[in-house]
Amino acid sequence: MRQNQPAMHTDVLIAGGGIGGLAAGLACARAGCHVRLYERAEAFAEVGAGIQLGPNVVRVLQGWGLEPALRQVAAFPARLQVRHALSGAELGVLPLGSTSVQRYGAPYATVHRADLQQLLLNALQQRDAVWLHTGRTVQRYVESHGAIGLSLEDGLDVEGDVLIAADGLWSPLRQQLLGDGPPRVTGHLAYRALLPQASLPAALRCQQVTVWLGPKLHVVQYPVRGGEWLNIVAIVQGHVHGGLEDWDHAAHAADLQAALVHSCAPLRELIAAVPAWRLWVLCDRAPLSGADPMARGRVALLGDAAHPMRPYLAQGAGMAIEDAAELGRQVALVDGVLDVPTLLRRYALNRWQRNARVQARAMRNGEIFHLQGPMAWARDRALRLLGERLLDLPWLYRGA
Ligand SMILES: Cc1cc2nc3c(=O)[nH]c(=O)nc-3n(C[C@H](O)[C@H](O)[C@H](O)COP(=O)(O)OP(=O)(O)OC[C@H]3O[C@@H](n4cnc5c(N)ncnc54)[C@H](O)[C@@H]3O)c2cc1C
Repeated sequence: MRQNQPAMHTDVLIAGGGIGGLAAGLACARAGCHVRLYERAEAFAEVGAGIQLGPNVVRVLQGWGLEPALRQVAAFPARLQVRHALSGAELGVLPLGSTSVQRYGAPYATVHRADLQQLLLNALQQRDAVWLHTGRTVQRYVESHGAIGLSLEDGLDVEGDVLIAADGLWSPLRQQLLGDGPPRVTGHLAYRALLPQASLPAALRCQQVTVWLGPKLHVVQYPVRGGEWLNIVAIVQGHVHGGLEDWDHAAHAADLQAALVHSCAPLRELIAAVPAWRLWVLCDRAPLSGADPMARGRVALLGDAAHPMRPYLAQGAGMAIEDAAELGRQVALVDGVLDVPTLLRRYALNRWQRNARVQARAMRNGEIFHLQGPMAWARDRALRLLGERLLDLPWLYRGA
């Protein structure tokens, strides 16, 4: 009965070594826990794509002492500009850079996913009592006698005090815990590309975040790797055939170019300059409606396993990192009085409403971004009049 032992540390098991799992590992290690993380892939490897980190997320990384490492790999755009995809006209601007630091105490960063993952991995590897296992697929858990056991596909069974399921959108552990079926297909497709700015004509290079809004589509571009690379994501409506879980498909540039055929010349030129695209089928779940699905007993869901969302607020990984920070705060309190289920319940109670709000706002953004006809005209007018006031989100960027 682990509960009654005078344990010197809490044993945390983590399924999944994406950004969420690694962040959770770091937060728990910083809280003095022993951490064993199991990742199904043979190596910790993120897809070749960028990620935006709002000041709410950068502040968490600052708290973990990671800002110097982030400064070496990220870009820190001075502004976000919204443009009309058809006319090219500017609709609104949100100052980032020093304005973000003044308002929210941290900059707005854009980073290559692999760089963010490596930064978290480096920090984890510098800590004692952390064991990272790749090529290990988690199958199921068994909770009993004040402990949690984990069965791996290769026959190994391990035991700990806490299980963090950070196994992503298709989380098998979520299915064991909640049994609520697969995520839903949104009908939106994401074409992604990452390329050196030097490979682009000078007019297409860009050091700001630009969001292009058009009927049933939008495109986002921003710099990564200190500004040397450009990340581009084009979202269109449609479906693909084939295995959804292999959500990274080779894409046909001609399909994307056809979807953007009526766009303004600068946007068409940017899309045409990309040599290769990857394609993602975007899936999500309805926003959380309570704390219960985020933690039960000794199992906590985190990141996309808990609250997968559309990427239209650029906060999915951000919420995983915020989840991790909260989990770290709670596991630090495990002692003879406050037990693991109580503390995981507190984690869920402290996190679910913010995650639900971000999920809902991301869905709404998708609808607003893709408006057509008179509704699009009204959106554009509102953006022109109120720009910064609509684009700035203090409730989000101030943090949890
Ligand atoms: C087009 C697009 C753009 C986005 N842009 C942004 C952005 O700008 N900002 C932002 O914050 N977020 C963004 N997101 C969201 C972000 O990518 C996700 O929310 C985030 O990566 C989720 O991290 P995770 O660790 O929870 O899940 P994942 O990254 O999916 O990691 C899960 C890990 O678990 C492993 N795993 C799965 N099953 C098992 C098993 N049985 N055993 C062991 N390991 C297992 C997987 O191999 C994987 O490594 C975007 C998403 C998309 C699709």
